[in-house]
Amino acid sequence: MDPYLRVTDLRVDFTSTDGMVRAVDGVSFTVERGRTLCVVGESGAGKSSLALALLGLHDPRRATVAGEITVAGHGLVGRPEAALRRLRGRDVAMIFQDPLSALHPYHPVGRQIAEAYRVHHRRAGRAETRRRVVEMLDRVGISQPDRRYDQYPHELSGGLRQRAMIAMALVNDPALLIADEPTAALDVTVQAQILELLTDVQAEYGTAIVLITHDLGVVGQVADDVLVMYAGRVMERGHAGQVLRTPQHPYTWGLLASVPSLRGDPEADLRPIPGLPPNLLDLPDGCVFHPRCRHTEPVGHRCRTEPPQLRAVGTGGHRLACHLPTRERIRRQAEETTRV
Ligand code: SF4
Ligand code: MG
Repeated sequence: MDPYLRVTDLRVDFTSTDGMVRAVDGVSFTVERGRTLCVVGESGAGKSSLALALLGLHDPRRATVAGEITVAGHGLVGRPEAALRRLRGRDVAMIFQDPLSALHPYHPVGRQIAEAYRVHHRRAGRAETRRRVVEMLDRVGISQPDRRYDQYPHELSGGLRQRAMIAMALVNDPALLIADEPTAALDVTVQAQILELLTDVQAEYGTAIVLITHDLGVVGQVADDVLVMYAGRVMERGHAGQVLRTPQHPYTWGLLASVPSLRGDPEADLRPIPGLPPNLLDLPDGCVFHPRCRHTEPVGHRCRTEPPQLRAVGTGGHRLACHLPTRERIRRQAEETTRV
């Protein structure tokens, strides 16, 4: 089966007054129907720029997108805006971190979802549209959907608003959902419910999901595949089991060591990654992670001068961009992950 989403050598450049910034640099991956790819990394890793590119949402006056993105066989890069609009909502839809940025404050939520439906179902009548929207509100677990239809966003709790936005994203049956930090603003219980809703929806409709998050706890709950990004590049990628259980990249080790929810004891030896994400205007030579890496010996010279290429490690699609020799890496990996 052809993957539903295929991204090949994607680059996103922004021009700012201080110079050119490459927010996404040579990212490639595929996502099949019914699978969830989690894109992880700290803020500034390029995750949101990647998400916007997947919907063709970058403003061409500010950003240059190069490489290839195909959704159900349709190329997105360079496609005219009118054609992109036909794909958006119908083939690919987005869930944002903050529903209030997507929902208009002065219109009832049901009506906003109805409008989203009408964009792709122009001949749908009022009654049919309302029925469809109420059905979606019900499907995403909003009780009394008929009453909620007429309420304004501020009348709903954060969790209900996020559910309403998921209903809006799903109303046209898109086969691909892009979710950018969809649960970051919610408390842990509601977060778990929303993630469960997304996995239920996926099981029911076979939706492909790209979920952007900085939270490896979220990744552990929903990911089939994981892409670890740093400074716009892929550091590591593979199946969730590979990346979470046998992580190979020093940056991934650092991310894992700083997540309380993946560890039994939330108070236990949490170690944030020292240093700050790099300034994209002034990237280090060699491996972009080297100024923060604790593992540069014995290959320090290469780390400082030569960017590591993404290459296969082991079998089964696990890939890694790091100069550490295999033996050394395996030894350190064992050390790092027993400390977690
Ligand atoms: Fe660390 Fe060098 Fe590997 Fe980069 S290439 S992650 S600096 S060991
Ligand atoms: Mg972001």
